[in-house]
Amino acid sequence: MATPTAIKTPQLTINGRSCGSADSLSVIDPSTGESFIEVPAASLAQLDEAVAAANAAFPAWRATPLTRRQEIVRGIKDVILANIDELALLVTTEQGKPLGNARGEVGASLRQIDFLGSITLDPEVIKDDETGRVEVRREPLGVVGAITVWNYPILAAMFKLIPALVAGNVVIVKPSPYTPVSTMRLGELLQDVLPPGVFQVVAGTDELGSALTAHPGVHKISFTGSVATGKRVMASAAGTLKRVTLELGGNDAGIVLDDADPAVIGADLFWAAFSNSGQVCAALKRLYVPESKFDAICEAVAAEAATVLVGPGLQEGVKAGPVQNKPQLERVRQLTEDAIARGGEAFFTGEVPDGPGYWFPTTLVRHVAEGVPLVDEEPFGPVVPILTYRDVDDAVARANNTDYGLGASVWSPDLDRATAVAERLDAGSVWVNQHPVVTAAVPFGGAKQSGIGVEGSLHGLHGYTNIKVLSVKR
Ligand code: NAD
Repeated sequence: MATPTAIKTPQLTINGRSCGSADSLSVIDPSTGESFIEVPAASLAQLDEAVAAANAAFPAWRATPLTRRQEIVRGIKDVILANIDELALLVTTEQGKPLGNARGEVGASLRQIDFLGSITLDPEVIKDDETGRVEVRREPLGVVGAITVWNYPILAAMFKLIPALVAGNVVIVKPSPYTPVSTMRLGELLQDVLPPGVFQVVAGTDELGSALTAHPGVHKISFTGSVATGKRVMASAAGTLKRVTLELGGNDAGIVLDDADPAVIGADLFWAAFSNSGQVCAALKRLYVPESKFDAICEAVAAEAATVLVGPGLQEGVKAGPVQNKPQLERVRQLTEDAIARGGEAFFTGEVPDGPGYWFPTTLVRHVAEGVPLVDEEPFGPVVPILTYRDVDDAVARANNTDYGLGASVWSPDLDRATAVAERLDAGSVWVNQHPVVTAAVPFGGAKQSGIGVEGSLHGLHGYTNIKVLSVKR
C-alpha cells in the first residue's frame, strides 16, 4: 500500500512561476479525516497578478496558429502520462477514490486532447458569390476562469482547460478547496510545455472563486458545482457580462421497463448509481421500477452491492472510497435517516471500515416516494432510493417533475420501446441501458436548472468562443 508521506507540497502557479502565499489551505484525506498537507491559498492580490499575467499572455496565444496550439496541447498529454502515477496518488489521497479509478480519471482527461488535438476550426461560409462573401468565425474570448469541484478534480479541470486552450483562450483554474492538490501539481507540471500566463492555478476558498467571477479582467467563467453556487456565479458574472458555462447538479431518474431482465441489468444499475461512491453529477439518483419487477430488481442491485469492498483508496481490492468531505457526509446521513424516519426501508446496508474517515455504507432504500427529500433532492453520496411506478406515463411524469435536468435513463431489451420513452424525458443526456456515459466527443450538459451550455465535443469548444461575422461586398 502506497503512503501519502511521499507527497511534495505543490505551489500556486502564477505567470509561469511557482508561488507560495501567506495564507494556506489544510487538505484532508477523507479516508482518515485528518489533514495530510497544507497548500498555499492565493490572496486577492495574487489573483490580480494572475489575471494581469493572463491578459498579457492572451494576444500571443491567440495569434499562435491553431495547429501549433494543438501541437503544444498534445505535449500536455506526454507530461501527464509521464506523471500519471503521481497525479493518481494525489487524486486518491485528497478525493478518496480507489487508486485504479484515480488513474482512470487522469487517463480519461486525456481524451479531450485526443479529440481536440487535431480538429479543424474552419470558418462557416454562408455566402460566397459574385456579390460578396459572408463567413462565420470562432474567436477566442480571452481569459477563462475555470472553477472546479471535488469529485473529479483532474477531469473537471482538463475538460475546461483543453477546449479553452485549443480555441485560443488562456485559463486560470480555481480548484475546490477540498481537492486543490492534484490540480496545483498539474499547474506546476504543465509550465514546462505552456508559455507563462497561459495556464495558471490559484487555489483558495469560495471567496476566491467569487472574486474570480466578479473580476473585470476575466471574460468567461466555466463552472462545475452545485445549482445554488451556479446561480451566484451567474449573478456575479453579469457585472461584466462574462460568458458562462454552468455544469451543475442533477437528480437523474432511471426507468426500468417491465420487459427488462433484472439479472442482466442489476450490476449496471448498481454502478450507474454508486460509481465514485455516488459522487457523480449524472449518477442515477432515483430508480423507478414497475411493481411486477420490483423485488427482483431490488435483489439484483443488492447482489452487486454485496460484492463491493468500501475502504481507503490505496488499499488493494477496494472498489469504493469514502465520502469526500464532512459536510457532504452529514448531508447523506441526514437524508438517509430522514427517509427511514418517514417509513423508508434501508433494505441493503453495506460494511464500512472502523475508525475515523468519512465513511458511509452503501445503502439502498425502498418504500419511499416523492415528498421525501432523499427522493426530491440530490444526495451526492452512496445512497439511492428505489421506487415503484404504476405505468410508463406515471414514471415519465415523475421523472420529469423536478427542476433538475442533467441525465436520465431507460432500461429495456426492446430498444425501440426504450427510445420512445427516452424521447419523453427532459434532460441534457438520456441514455438507454447505461447511465451515465460522458466522453470527449459527445456534448454533456444540463437542461433546466442543471446548467447552461455543454462540455465536450465541438459544441463545448464553441462555448469558449464568440461568433464573429466577416462580411465582404464584392
Ligand atoms: P460548490 O458549488 O459548493 O463548489 C464548487 C466550486 O465553486 C468550488 O471550487 C468552490 O470553492 C467554488 N465556489 C463556492 N462558492 C462560490 C462563489 N460564490 N463564487 C464562485 N465560486 C464559488 O460545490 P459542491 O456543492 O460541493 O459540489 C457538489 C455539486 O456539484 C453537486 O450538485 C454535483 O452534482 C455538482 N457537480 C456537477 C457536475 C457537472 O458536470 N454537471 C460535475 C460534478 C459535480
